[in-house]
Amino acid sequence: MAASQVAERVQELHLDDNGRGPGSESPERVRNLNIVFIGHVDAGKSTLCGHLLYLTGNLDERTLEKYEKEAKSKGRESWKFAWALDLTEQERSKGKTTDYGVASFRTATKHITIIDAPGHKAYVPAMISGTGQADVAILVISARKGEFEAGFERGGQTREHAMLAKTAGVRQLIVVINKMDEPTVQWSEERFREICDKLAPFLKQIGYRPQEVSWVPVSGFTGENLREPVHPSTCAWYKGGSLLQVLDALKLPPRPLDMPVRMTVVDRFRDMGVCILGRVEAGTIRSGDRLLLMPPRLVVHVTSITMDAEEVPLAEPGDNVKLLVKGVEEDDIHSGQVLCAENDPVEATTTFDGQVMLVEHKSILTAGYRCIAHIQAAAVEVVFERLLAEVDRRTNQIVKKHPKFVRPGSTFIARLSVAQPVCVTAFKEFAPLGRFMLRDEGTTIGAGVVVRIPTAKQRSE
Ligand code: GDP
Repeated sequence: MAASQVAERVQELHLDDNGRGPGSESPERVRNLNIVFIGHVDAGKSTLCGHLLYLTGNLDERTLEKYEKEAKSKGRESWKFAWALDLTEQERSKGKTTDYGVASFRTATKHITIIDAPGHKAYVPAMISGTGQADVAILVISARKGEFEAGFERGGQTREHAMLAKTAGVRQLIVVINKMDEPTVQWSEERFREICDKLAPFLKQIGYRPQEVSWVPVSGFTGENLREPVHPSTCAWYKGGSLLQVLDALKLPPRPLDMPVRMTVVDRFRDMGVCILGRVEAGTIRSGDRLLLMPPRLVVHVTSITMDAEEVPLAEPGDNVKLLVKGVEEDDIHSGQVLCAENDPVEATTTFDGQVMLVEHKSILTAGYRCIAHIQAAAVEVVFERLLAEVDRRTNQIVKKHPKFVRPGSTFIARLSVAQPVCVTAFKEFAPLGRFMLRDEGTTIGAGVVVRIPTAKQRSE
């Protein structure tokens, strides 16, 4: 299928508003939803994650008791759920829990995978690859007096994380206003409204439409409003659903089932053979399929597909899977590669034109500047070869051609080059392979979308 047809197909699928692509989807199949927790440090992400796992039966009482005791002995009783999450992290590294993501659980209608653990040392880079694969971001905000303010002010991570999620293409945002049990809050409607009123204009500004954002007050610590709706004797004014009910009711994005296969590679390891971990972005993969690993264009035979420790006959867009493969060595596989349909692969390139939004930067940016680009699950060094045009962010019109420099806050188109070939497509043709984040010295400086892969002629112009 040609790129333009692919674009049309995506358009078409997006128009199909019932959340399903036309044709082959099996209706009885429980859909997988990837969620990522974002928000300022100490907002309560780990606690919330741990408590959700507990409430959905994925953390047993005995393990929790053990952690409770340990936490108590260290004078940190309230951390038991957060520690439970660390435990699943350790288990994950031993390969005991899910093969992908930190953990997963089921709601009435969905299979939910939590990808990436909050509290990682290098959380933001990990989050970038995580948010790139998330359908929903849960933005955790602490309602405690002073904490919301600290997290939302300049330097706090609330803004950065929310912006990253939007740029990474996360369509749905659930803003969880946490710590409602706090003595300074006591499930106060006034405090809840105050936070919503301050956050809503910011979320709108970064591109979230009001219908894409849900607002849920909770206590990750007591568990109120996580599974069961908060009791009216605790909170009489909130009439919405609990966090799990809100997750359950979310409309899932349509799945580009009939497109050529695209699976982004996240990791690889050996387990009865060479295994590739990744997320299917388009098409359907069946065991027995031949696919192309791009780059460097190696033929891969899929021997079996595992999802959540169970062997499955096929994988569809949105699924995080482990493929047992033949034809390649472990060393041939790297995060950031893309497994493609053999007859219609994504080409790999070392040069692309990107429209960049420069958010944070200490000074002006000129041609020759180098930083790290996170493209899907890969982190590669990128050079700004040429600044092609400055763009008005609101109208998307070019305001200046070939600027000598650009200032922080500006949006511009630049020719970017990377040392190792990467698989990207123009954003408007296939969005999941058309986004990137830019980081320098540990800070996210901007984000962008791929405008085009220049032809040889365009490159020489
Ligand atoms: P993270 O950095 O966002 O992962 O935050 P943690 O989950 O580690 O929590 C930070 C601190 O806030 C810990 O002391 C938690 O016990 C506390 N905390 C988290 N959630 C709640 C909550 O709902 N209520 C109260 N009172 N404290 C909470």
